[in-house]
Amino acid sequence: MSSDIYRIAIDGPSGAGKSTIAKAVAKKLNIDYIDTGAMYRAIGYKMSVCGVYPENQEAVNSMLAVTDIDFDDGCIYLDGRDVSDHIRTPEMSMMASVCSTIPEVREKLVEIQRGMAERKSVIMDGRDIGTNVLTDAEVKIYLTASDEERAQRRFLELQEKGDPQTYDEVLEDIRQRDHNDMTRKLNPLRKAEDAVELDTTGMDIDQVVDRVLEIVAEKTA
Ligand code: C5P
Repeated sequence: MSSDIYRIAIDGPSGAGKSTIAKAVAKKLNIDYIDTGAMYRAIGYKMSVCGVYPENQEAVNSMLAVTDIDFDDGCIYLDGRDVSDHIRTPEMSMMASVCSTIPEVREKLVEIQRGMAERKSVIMDGRDIGTNVLTDAEVKIYLTASDEERAQRRFLELQEKGDPQTYDEVLEDIRQRDHNDMTRKLNPLRKAEDAVELDTTGMDIDQVVDRVLEIVAEKTA
């Protein structure tokens, strides 16, 4: 890997602020941002639109064989169509969590993700970036926050969109997804040994972005 190219891996549980922070850091450093959660959401979306059940392995495989996922200008394209506005619902969060346990789905997405990070600097966020997708990333950060703070942030986001979920429902949802992500057999969510842990409880976005930029500067100096 050429010395002026570096990859930043950001992992952590749902609602820790990974995508907000990664997007802001990408802008500051003028590098590409790859939101791998959006890719699992897009697959979950396609499964629900096509009526493919996760337990029907044959149908999942046939679907994956004709599935194309790409990013352009911050939008995610599924089979050539911008689906960014369809994948951010609580139902799609759960669908993503369910489909992320299917080995063939992970295999396909990890291959695409590694291809996207070849020969250019990127910041990629998800659950298994530092531990599996980009194990040799120059910078690895594990972003966390308390369950309650993560639920509160997500609740406010959903409220802004007019979603009727209550705070308690959002908290329950976050805990359920944490459990799914941390206990699944394949590439569960965990902190990479060489990742810097950053607990963002009580920090605002600018403070977290500044701290991430400091870590990147230290690690790539
Ligand atoms: O990050 P986001 O909440 O959009 O991710 C949706 C779901 O996709 C997660 O709950 C997780 O189950 C799955 N995911 C994953 N591995 C990644 C990124 C997301 O399993 N690298």
